[in-house]
Amino acid sequence: MRYHSPATFEDASAIAAAASGVTRFLAGGTDVLVQMRADIVTPDDLIDIKHIPGVKDIVQEDDKCWSIGAAVAGAELTAHVGLCADWPGVIEGMALVGSTQVQGRATLIGNLCNGSPAADSVPGLAAAGAEVSVVGPKGTRQVKVEDIPAGPGKTTLAKGEVISGIYLPARGKGGGDAYLRFIPRTEMDIAVVGCAVNLRVEGDKITEARVVLGAVAPTIVVVEEAAKALIGSTLDDKALDALAAAASAACRPINDKRGTIAFRTDVAGVLARRAAKIAYDRARGAK
Ligand SMILES: Cc1cc2nc3c(=O)[nH]c(=O)nc-3n(C[C@H](O)[C@H](O)[C@H](O)COP(=O)(O)OP(=O)(O)OC[C@H]3O[C@@H](n4cnc5c(N)ncnc54)[C@H](O)[C@@H]3O)c2cc1C
Repeated sequence: MRYHSPATFEDASAIAAAASGVTRFLAGGTDVLVQMRADIVTPDDLIDIKHIPGVKDIVQEDDKCWSIGAAVAGAELTAHVGLCADWPGVIEGMALVGSTQVQGRATLIGNLCNGSPAADSVPGLAAAGAEVSVVGPKGTRQVKVEDIPAGPGKTTLAKGEVISGIYLPARGKGGGDAYLRFIPRTEMDIAVVGCAVNLRVEGDKITEARVVLGAVAPTIVVVEEAAKALIGSTLDDKALDALAAAASAACRPINDKRGTIAFRTDVAGVLARRAAKIAYDRARGAK
């Protein structure tokens, strides 16, 4: 195995583009190193992106958007007061990943690119309208988070493409988000269902909404009908019933030992209701 430590994302991309065997990028390593140790993957080229300048930065730009480096760990995100105030739902998704030890290394982009349908930070990022910057042999492009996962263990990234950073929009007035997951244990488990809701209110009325499910299909699901159920409402019972029905209808889950199709479908509606209530309270400043 060849270990590389490039100084730029362009170099990282060039190494990946020229490689002929199995290639992995190394961010926190909490997926890659575990997979290597278990002989699930044996990279010919392991490209460590942690030494590229800026990968540990969390920056709020002049337009109030947030730029998060590719090697920022979960623990650094949860300790960032400004980011937590703007995007609590995004951060609570990442905060659920693993343990204290895992939080010291695991990154948002690693969570996204590992391609697990149950990745905890991905629904919140997609609900927030986050984008990533993809550096590749043909240049750099901005891609919506929901367009990166392609199925279990797969992404839409082409050979030689690497993500250099993640961008969250300006929070703006009257915004609130939340992420909830169901797991059979109290912690250190994989989501059976995850749900993120991001919305904006004017007074008590919801004017914008995004609802995203995790772990109920091969990729995350952006549920347009669920958002429509919220927009224009004051989160009354009728809106909550329509939201829950739309969330359940969007599920295409698997049956496994951790949850049946019927259970996952039902829980998606339950979590959508609960996450919407939390996001709504946050948006109105009620916490
Ligand atoms: C004990 C334990 C508990 C866990 N619990 C959870 C949990 O509760 N919820 C959950 O969602 N996950 C969980 N995980 C999985 C893992 O911690 C997360 O997916 C984590 O966010 C991965 O980030 P990383 O930086 O460690 O990724 P890495 O392992 O470094 O990389 C993961 C994948 O992303 C690719 N990659 C990394 N960086 C880039 C980049 N910049 N551009 C393109 N591709 C890139 C790599 O090639 C690799 O395929 C757990 C893992 C462990 C070991």
